[in-house]
Amino acid sequence: VALCEAEEALPAHSRPCVLEPRFNWMLFWKFLRPHLLVLGAAVVLALGAALVNVQIPLLLGQLVEIVAKYTRDHAGSFLTESRSLSTHLLLLYGLQGLLTFGYLVLLSRIGERMAVDLRRALFCNLLRQDIAFFDAKKTGQLVNRLTTDVQEFKSSFKLVISQVARATGVADEALGNVRTVRAFAMEQREEERYGVELEGSRYKAEELGRGIALFQGLSNIAFNCMVLGTLFIGGSLVAGQQLTGGDLMSFLVASQTVQRSMANLSILFGQVVRGLSAGARVFEYMTLSPSIPLSGGCSLPRERLRGSIAFHNVSFSYPCRPGFPVLRDFNLTLPPGKIVALVGQSGGGKTTVASLLERFYDPTAGVVMLDGQDLRTLDPSWLRGQVIGFISQEPVLFGTTIMENIRFGKVDASDEEVYAAAREANAHEFITSFPEGYNTIVGERGATLSGGQKQRLAIARALIKQPAVLILDEATSALDSESERVVQEALDRASSGRTVLVIAHRLSTVRAAHQIVVMAHGRVCEVGTHEELLKKGGLYSELIRRQALDTPPPEAPR
Ligand code: ADP
Ligand code: MG
Repeated sequence: VALCEAEEALPAHSRPCVLEPRFNWMLFWKFLRPHLLVLGAAVVLALGAALVNVQIPLLLGQLVEIVAKYTRDHAGSFLTESRSLSTHLLLLYGLQGLLTFGYLVLLSRIGERMAVDLRRALFCNLLRQDIAFFDAKKTGQLVNRLTTDVQEFKSSFKLVISQVARATGVADEALGNVRTVRAFAMEQREEERYGVELEGSRYKAEELGRGIALFQGLSNIAFNCMVLGTLFIGGSLVAGQQLTGGDLMSFLVASQTVQRSMANLSILFGQVVRGLSAGARVFEYMTLSPSIPLSGGCSLPRERLRGSIAFHNVSFSYPCRPGFPVLRDFNLTLPPGKIVALVGQSGGGKTTVASLLERFYDPTAGVVMLDGQDLRTLDPSWLRGQVIGFISQEPVLFGTTIMENIRFGKVDASDEEVYAAAREANAHEFITSFPEGYNTIVGERGATLSGGQKQRLAIARALIKQPAVLILDEATSALDSESERVVQEALDRASSGRTVLVIAHRLSTVRAAHQIVVMAHGRVCEVGTHEELLKKGGLYSELIRRQALDTPPPEAPR
């Protein structure tokens, strides 16, 4: 019946309690290998610079000889005799500066490109982790690994500092909103977006690297020229017998050499230590594999998809809280094309039911089925991207245009499809009333829109994929009564002909459901229609009564 594409899901990895991760040399080699040629060139240039550095004191010594001879004999012109040696030295200084410039540019290039590869690989692997992984980690910490740790790792090769603020923004948004990204199976797109930002910042950073390399090369020349100048002044001091030539020479060369090697050693040592631990943190998440893969598995052809859902004896506890059962022997059937409402106290596990249906998590025991197929055998990206439309209480929008936000539900949707979805969601009118229309940028997380407008965009985004199953998790509970009416109207329209799970705290919105399921303590405790449950006088009628007390009486008809 089902079209099988790939193997079964990978078994869950049991992760031990995290110590400081060890540096993964194998993985490091994988990232370094593409740059070996350039690295070789950089090493050759650096060796060349070192060779020139050895030559310089020798020539300086010869210059001192001339100075000494002049001091002894007081014959001939000092300037004429030292001219060719000085020119030679100047040429060597120029060459040294050039070589320094060259190897620093190459190193910065390798560093920036490796950092891009590292960030891309890490970001891509982070996006693929289980939702449970994100429950246990702070997004700030994850973003840190992408930026600070890669940064530190990179600079341990004595490389330049780069500005990744924009790329960080994309990563922060995508990782922070990972449920939304997952619900629309949009990982690929987010990766591309992040990749574009990375390329942009790489270009800027390489430019900066060239600037720093130029500065280093030039300052080397300047530093060396200063030494030469001192030598000339010192030379005249020596000529006046106030200083011996040998003293001047050893003072100059020794102090310079000691100064340079001390600085290099301390920098190198500090960098290697910091680089290794930062690299270890970067590689740690790169090798982690999720227990629920993003894709792979069976899918059903659209014309045969009925959209019936069944939970059979499902028990579940969150991976980060294993001893705390949220669902216990939970049974629920959503008949195709019918509306089922799930009600119960806050914290009772309603959203958890929706998360299991989206396969953000797998049940601890029991099965969730779509059209008789265990969800675990189905392709998760097909399930999330094409079967299930999910609308939550807090709609999450991305900082781009309204058009792009709706298209998030279906990347290849035409403009007409976007308009149609917006009309169905009661959103077309308010969108076209904006001066920029569909090209209006909604601002970070949709901050420029009202709650009701955001929710209608979220509905359009869910409807554009024409989902067979619609989950409405408290979709109107954050809205004022006026927006609620408009949004509810859109939802009623969207619900017809679909399998719908309405999760509601406000019971006024579930009256029309074909069936109402009341849950408490992770179990189903009552099932029936509104009238049946009221007549029964159980938990549902109790909830209704309590809510009637909480909410003010309905407004008088206008
Ligand atoms: P409801 O939607 O009915 O208000 P939820 O399904 O959100 O309830 O939560 C059910 C229980 O699971 C609560 O006790 C809640 O604290 C816990 N819970 C919810 N989400 C998580 C999570 N990501 N990690 C751990 N525990 C969670
Ligand atoms: Mg909830």
